[in-house]
Amino acid sequence: MQTVDLASQAEQLAAGETTSVDLTERSLAAIDALQPTLNAFITVDRDGALTAAAAADQRRAAGQPLSSLDGVPIAHKDIFCTAGVKTTCGSRMLESFVPPYNATVVERLAAAGLVMVGKTNMDEFAMGSSNETSFYGNVGNPWDTTRSPGGSSGGSAAAVAAGIVAGATGTDTGGSIRQPAALCGITGFKPTYGRASRYGMIAFASSLDQAGTLTRTAKDAALLLDHLCGFDPKDSTSLDVAAESFSATLDKPLTGLRIGVAEAFYDDGLAPGCRDALEQALDQYRSLGASVASVELPHLYLSVPTYYVVAPAECSSNLSRFDGIRFGHRADDCNDLTELYTRSRSEGFGDEVKRRIMTGTYVLSSGYYDAYYLKAQRARQLISGDFAAAFEQVDLIAGPTAPTPAFGLGDKVDDPVTMYLNDIYTIGANLAGLPAMSLPMGTVDGLPVGMQLIGPALSEARLLNAAHGYQSVTEWHRATPNVFSGAES
Ligand code: GLN
Repeated sequence: MQTVDLASQAEQLAAGETTSVDLTERSLAAIDALQPTLNAFITVDRDGALTAAAAADQRRAAGQPLSSLDGVPIAHKDIFCTAGVKTTCGSRMLESFVPPYNATVVERLAAAGLVMVGKTNMDEFAMGSSNETSFYGNVGNPWDTTRSPGGSSGGSAAAVAAGIVAGATGTDTGGSIRQPAALCGITGFKPTYGRASRYGMIAFASSLDQAGTLTRTAKDAALLLDHLCGFDPKDSTSLDVAAESFSATLDKPLTGLRIGVAEAFYDDGLAPGCRDALEQALDQYRSLGASVASVELPHLYLSVPTYYVVAPAECSSNLSRFDGIRFGHRADDCNDLTELYTRSRSEGFGDEVKRRIMTGTYVLSSGYYDAYYLKAQRARQLISGDFAAAFEQVDLIAGPTAPTPAFGLGDKVDDPVTMYLNDIYTIGANLAGLPAMSLPMGTVDGLPVGMQLIGPALSEARLLNAAHGYQSVTEWHRATPNVFSGAES
């Protein structure tokens, strides 16, 4: 069961070899078995899932499935509002928040018949690269539970890698889909900024946040994205572009595909094993008929400092709504309004969130706005310009997703800058609003490592085609951790 992917589950349902109730029960049983070691879920919606599964089975029996994925179980990152189901965003601040409405992403996947089994663990308000800032505890990496699954979508990545569900949603502001996908040996996809709706997705940094998928294969990503993406009038930054079937062009030959590699991705922090795996992946692409050429991304080195001005600035504004009155945890027994605000926010937010709010407030303050925020916006333009120039020469850019395989839980928590550097290769695509993905490309010390593919705006179909081509001739995406026997012993 652990190795089953979305496409196979859909085929089994279509062939009458299984039912949605059966798949859902197996998924719920896997959550129970693995929650003590992985802690991948914050909330499990057992009753809701079984009711939705029974309805999916009825539709199928009546010959009216909503889509090919009708009845397939998935999980949602706990950043997406789910009507009637607790949505914490990994924070104490929202410990008892039950949204009255669904995020558009949740709504769209439910409209395709997908069954939500629960809400996955994540870094608090999606701020983190290791899932260790969650108020609900660490998530274990299924390949080695003493290691981090990455973050902030660490629960979704661990749930898919462990085979609890074949697909899950995530969000990516600076790498939070791609980096955990890399560290857990699965495929993670972040669409072009604006291609998936942000409505009902709790905001971290609104000009960077984007919803996407964590799945075992690129084909599964395409199947989910076909439903997840699309214009939404409820999101003012949603792109009003024609709908496209990403799964329709997966098998196009890769002959003539032009891949760029940038020296900027090969810095001192890149583990030699990751570099070797990437070289082999590029050879694989050459043998599929692609060409590989070098491109320049001269300002990419500015992406981490730029991000850590822009993202905190936006977060300090977005998180001001959590004041204990309009939203969020309210402190008891306060004597006046100031004490209520101060104590509610002090108790509700964890250290990393407070650090970002303080940084963001500082860079936006009148005396420092020009020196930091405005300067960061200029650097952001330079980074976007680099990508635009590179995409005049190549169709996509390949590089590593993260500098190293999964690191140990606790290894980086006390050093925020080292933690921030884990996103050094992923942040550029967010700053430029580009679609990007991570796919398994090998192992280093027995742990999976990911290759990142970045494309020009709206090139999702091309990226998925390139990733599927690679996965058609490699087996890395099929490797699974032996987490079930670990959990049982
Ligand atoms: N790790 C990055 C951060 O902490 C990115 C997070 C994300 O993409 N949500 O901000």
